[in-house]
Amino acid sequence: MAGRINAEDVATVKERSSIEDIVREHVTLRPAGIGTLKGLCPFHDEKTPSFNVRPAMGTYHCFGCGEGGDVISFVQQVEHLTFAETIERLAGKFGIELRYEDGGSGRRDEVGTGRRQRLLDAHRVAEEFYREVLVDMTRGDARAGRDFLRDRGFDGASAAQFGVGFAPRGGDDLARHLRGRGFTEDELTLAGLCARGSRGLYDKFRGRLLWPIRDITGSTVGFGARRLFDDDRMPAKYLNTAETPIYKKSQVLYGLDLAKKAIAADREAVIVEGYTDVMAAHLSGVKGAVATCGTAFGVDHIKILRRILRDEADQAPARVVFTFDGDAAGQKAAMKAFGEDQRWAAQSFVAVAPEGMDPCELRMARGPEAVKALVEDAQPMFEFAVRTTVARFDLDTAEGRIQAMRAAAPIIAAIRDNALRPEYIRTVAGWLGLDIDQLRTEVSRAARRASAPPAEGGGGPGARGERTAYPEPTAAEEEAALAAPSVTMPDLRDPIVRAERQLLQAILQYRTQFDVTTLEAIPSEAFTAAAHAAVFDGIRTVVGRAQSLSSVAWITEVTETVALPVRALTQELSVAPLPTKLDPETGLPPQRYLDALVLGVHDAHLSRRIADATSVVRRLQHDPTGDADRLRAVTAELHTLELTRARLREVLTP
Ligand code: ZN
Repeated sequence: MAGRINAEDVATVKERSSIEDIVREHVTLRPAGIGTLKGLCPFHDEKTPSFNVRPAMGTYHCFGCGEGGDVISFVQQVEHLTFAETIERLAGKFGIELRYEDGGSGRRDEVGTGRRQRLLDAHRVAEEFYREVLVDMTRGDARAGRDFLRDRGFDGASAAQFGVGFAPRGGDDLARHLRGRGFTEDELTLAGLCARGSRGLYDKFRGRLLWPIRDITGSTVGFGARRLFDDDRMPAKYLNTAETPIYKKSQVLYGLDLAKKAIAADREAVIVEGYTDVMAAHLSGVKGAVATCGTAFGVDHIKILRRILRDEADQAPARVVFTFDGDAAGQKAAMKAFGEDQRWAAQSFVAVAPEGMDPCELRMARGPEAVKALVEDAQPMFEFAVRTTVARFDLDTAEGRIQAMRAAAPIIAAIRDNALRPEYIRTVAGWLGLDIDQLRTEVSRAARRASAPPAEGGGGPGARGERTAYPEPTAAEEEAALAAPSVTMPDLRDPIVRAERQLLQAILQYRTQFDVTTLEAIPSEAFTAAAHAAVFDGIRTVVGRAQSLSSVAWITEVTETVALPVRALTQELSVAPLPTKLDPETGLPPQRYLDALVLGVHDAHLSRRIADATSVVRRLQHDPTGDADRLRAVTAELHTLELTRARLREVLTP
C-alpha cells in the first residue's frame, strides 16, 4: 500500500481546484449576493436553495443540513471517497504528480488508497480498447457492431462522439489487454469488467456493442452492452455493468455528462428509453436527452435532475419530458409519477411518437426535425394519463361518458394540490362534455373511496361485506402453511413492536396518507417482530401500485402476497381500530401521528444499524491486522446510514 501523500502536494492540489468549478459539476449555481453563489444542496433533498458557495474563500455551506467545508471535503462527501482518494482524483484531473511518503502510520484516510482511481483508470483503458476494436477493419467480429450502428443511422463520427465500442468475441481479450497494462485480477473483477472462471479471468462483455456509461463529471464508470449474435450465451438484449464500488445504477443517467449543460440552460430534461435513443436525440438537436441504465426512472434520478434543472420553489417550473414508445407502459410510468411526487408530476410531460416509434426509429424514418417536434409537442403527464384512460370508452354514448368519468375521477382525486384540482376538473369536464358539478361530485367520491378506512361500515368498497374477495387458501397452500414453521406472534409489551403494529395498521387502512417512496425506503428488517416483517414484505411488493388500487383491491392484493402464516394477521391489521382519534371531518388519523409511526420504526432500525457499524469500525481501527477493504466499506455504509437517518428526521419531525 502506498504511504501518505506528501503534504506539499496536498496543498498544491487544493490550490489548483476551484470550488466553484467542482461544485458546478454537480449543482447549478446562480449568484446570490456579493461573492456568493447558491443552488440546491447535493447532500439533502430540498426545493429552495440553501447551499452556498463562496469561491473567494474556497468554501461551501448549506443552511439546510449544516454540511460545509472546502473543495476537498466537498469531493469527499459528494463522491463518497476517502481523503487520499480525493487528492488522487483531483491530482489526476489537473495532471499533478503526487509524491508518497513511506511508512504510512495506518491512518484511516489511507485505507484503500487509490482504489477508486484504479477502477476509473481501468474503465478508461477498457473504453479505448473497445473503441479501437470497433473501428478495426481487420476484425471480422466487429463488423456486426458497425452494421448495427449504420442500420440505425449512426456514422463513424457519431459513434466516436459517444465512445461506442465493440467487445471481442474471444473471451479474454480485454483481460489480457488490461493485465498487460498493469491492472491486477482483483481490480478487474472489482471493476465488473472481468470475472474469474475455472480457467482464469474472462471478459464480462463478449461479442457485444458497448456504450460507455459516464458519471456526471464525464468519467466512465460502467458499460451498457447490446446483444448482436444469435449464439450469444446471454439472452438479454441489453446487459449493463453490475453494481460496483463506482457504479450504482439507481444513480446514473446515460448521457448526463453531455446533456448537463443543455438541461441547466434550457431548464428542460428529456428522458428517453435507451442508448440509441439518447444518441438519436442529441444528434437531432435535443441536447438534454438522458436515459436510465437497466432500471426504471426513480427517486434518485429525480433528485439528480432537480439539482441541475434548478427546480426551485421560487422559479417557473422546469420541464421534464418522458418519451414512451408504447401507451400501456407509458401510462403505467405516468401514474407512478403521480404517486411519487406531485410537484414533479405537475411539471412532467409525455411524448408518444406516432406508430409507437422510439426516437431512434423516428429519426431514421422522418429525420431530426421530427424528433425535435416530438419533444416540443409533449403533453402534460396529467393530461396524458386522463386521455389514455378516457380513450377506452365510447364518448358518443351517455353510458360511455359516465364510465369514462368514473375511470378518470380517481386520477383527478390523486392530485393532492388543492389549488390545481378545480382547474383540472373544469378541463376534464370539458373533454368529456359533462357538467362540472357532476364531475366534481364523482371526484370527491373517488377521493373518499381512496381513503375510506375499511373498518367502517356502509356501502363503500371498504365495507366488510366485500371482504369475501379474499381467496380461500387452496389445499396445497394449506398444506404448505402447516409445513411452514409457524410464526411467533409479536410481543406487544415491547413499545417498538407496538409502534410496528400501528404502522402496519395505518398503512393497510389509510394507504393514500403515505408517500410511496417513504414506504419503499423502509427495509422489511426494520420490523423487529418476524411476523410484522413478513406483513411488511407483502406491503412493499404491492405498494408501487397502491395508488391505482381501490381500498379493497389494495388489501386483497397485500393479503394474497404475504406469506401464508401471516395472512390472518394481515386481515386483522387491516380492520383493527387505531389507538388515535380520527378527524371527524375527513375520517383520517392525524398526519403527525402517522409521521411519528414511520419515524419511530425506521429511525429505531437505522439507529440499531449505526450502532452496529460504529462498533465494527472501532474494532477494525484498533486491529493492526484489520481488513482495510472491510473498514472502508463499513465506514462508507456508516456514512450513508447517518445521512439517511438525518434526512428521515428532517422530513418527518414536525
Ligand atoms: Zn444541505
